Amino acid sequence: MRYLLTGGAGFIGSSVIRHLIANTSHHVVNVDKLTYAGNMESLLEVSNSSRYAFERVDICDAEELERVFSTYKPDVVMHLAAESHVDRSIDSPAAFVETNIIGTYHLLEVSRRYWLKLSAAKRGTFRFLHVSTDEVFGDLGQARERFTETSRYAPSSPYSASKASADHLVRAWQRTYGLPTLITNCSNNYGPYHYPEKMIPLMILNALECKPLPVYGQGLQVRDWLYVEDHARALCTVMEKGKPGETYNIGGNNEKRNIQVVEEICDLLDLIHPASRPYRSLIEYVDDRPGHDYRYAIDPGKCHSELGWSPSETFESGLRKTVAWYLDNLEWCRRVQEGKYQRNRLGISGAE
Ligand code: NAD
Repeated sequence: MRYLLTGGAGFIGSSVIRHLIANTSHHVVNVDKLTYAGNMESLLEVSNSSRYAFERVDICDAEELERVFSTYKPDVVMHLAAESHVDRSIDSPAAFVETNIIGTYHLLEVSRRYWLKLSAAKRGTFRFLHVSTDEVFGDLGQARERFTETSRYAPSSPYSASKASADHLVRAWQRTYGLPTLITNCSNNYGPYHYPEKMIPLMILNALECKPLPVYGQGLQVRDWLYVEDHARALCTVMEKGKPGETYNIGGNNEKRNIQVVEEICDLLDLIHPASRPYRSLIEYVDDRPGHDYRYAIDPGKCHSELGWSPSETFESGLRKTVAWYLDNLEWCRRVQEGKYQRNRLGISGAE
């Protein structure tokens, strides 16, 4: 099968590509604009594979998308490209509206035109999988329930509102035009190759430099955490076994308060990389993010029962792997922090 995957130089997309190249015989073309979040150095282990190709294309550029579709003739599309950082969406929402909404619209339209020209057999097996977030459902507050596939949409941030809009467009293209789409809504991911502005890598790297560990508010917000490689496997499972028109919630059954996550990172580092004082002493509480949702929690039961997917990592095992990965890959982190990875735009190993 030929996969066209958008956002493959990002955190989750690169994990999906590494998974597809290592564990299947599928071909993958990675369509990525390479914003600050796109890092070709996360794909070095697949860059020499004859089954992998890269196209530096903005999903808002319909003409370029048409060219990529007619060149690579994909059997399926997996759409991950997005602006993804909530804090950035609060400071500058325009890029979120542009990529997450307008970009998704262009990708849907180009996919639809391409799909209509396929043979009847190929049209029947074509799939458009849109990768979304549990943040579209908004804040559970103190309620005890978890999000299901039928939960009401109530996004709070410009990021989640733009992802919610994209989800609605995808559903409309399924319902109105019959494009065979699938949607996944996943909880917070963590793991190797995560851009250091996100909470878990930020805490690990700050701790290693004995810098403060900034925790929003009192750190009481609750998030469900999923190891990124489990998410990558889940997306491939949804692509293979999911039913067009359906939505699948993906989560790790790992609800944690933010402060608990930070304390667990500190305790792990105390064990495997001890410093002169306990890492917990670096924790600093800072002003809360505006509009910060209190709790998200995903019920992944449908994915378990209908598709047979379940995560292989617990939060404890995944966090141990993640901390160990960052300790072993400080050079990757240093190049991200110094912006050097952005000079390696063509994915040429070692190029500066
Ligand atoms: P990321 O920010 O690490 O990567 C996004 C990628 O998209 C980057 O490589 C970037 O260069 C690319 N991109 C951005 N704008 C583009 C454009 N206009 N055209 C082409 N490429 C563009 O994001 P991520 O954490 O890997 O998330 C991937 C997807 O999964 C997103 O759609 C996100 O909403 C969703 N998601 C993320 C999480 C999470 O915890 N990270 C959880 C659930 C869902």
